Amino acid sequence: MSESISQTTNETIFTKIINKEIPADILYEDELALAFSDINPQAPIHFLVIPKKPITTINAIQEEDKALVGHLYWVAAKLAEKHGFAKDGYRAVMNCNENGGQTVYHIHLHVLAGKAMGWPPYQDKLKTL
Ligand code: AMP
Repeated sequence: MSESISQTTNETIFTKIINKEIPADILYEDELALAFSDINPQAPIHFLVIPKKPITTINAIQEEDKALVGHLYWVAAKLAEKHGFAKDGYRAVMNCNENGGQTVYHIHLHVLAGKAMGWPPYQDKLKTL
């Protein structure tokens, strides 16, 4: 790649990780995606799978990105197999905007594993459906 990804729009801290400007515990990399350990793990195993293309939120995914987003799930499944938690199971989730709890505006698949997780992912009861 001749041009640094940081020269494109939508730069976040994840762009710096992609460009190796800041360190990360990288678990997987190919031409489309990168996976690295979450700096603030919420489960015994917690890593993020991100596209190298900086897409801000799920809402910004374009028609041409459909295969790329599928690729993120493929990477998650390959790493689940490699790290031995595919059979036990895991959660693979993307947060979107404020109510979804998104803090970094470069889409990322959270992969959480290593213990059973609850559902639903909130404590208070819904007032209305
Ligand atoms: P979200 O709140 O869904 O946007 O998730 C952002 C995630 O990025 C959080 O789980 C953070 O812990 C994680 N995170 C932020 N900065 C870094 C970093 N430098 N390296 C690894 N993970 C990070």
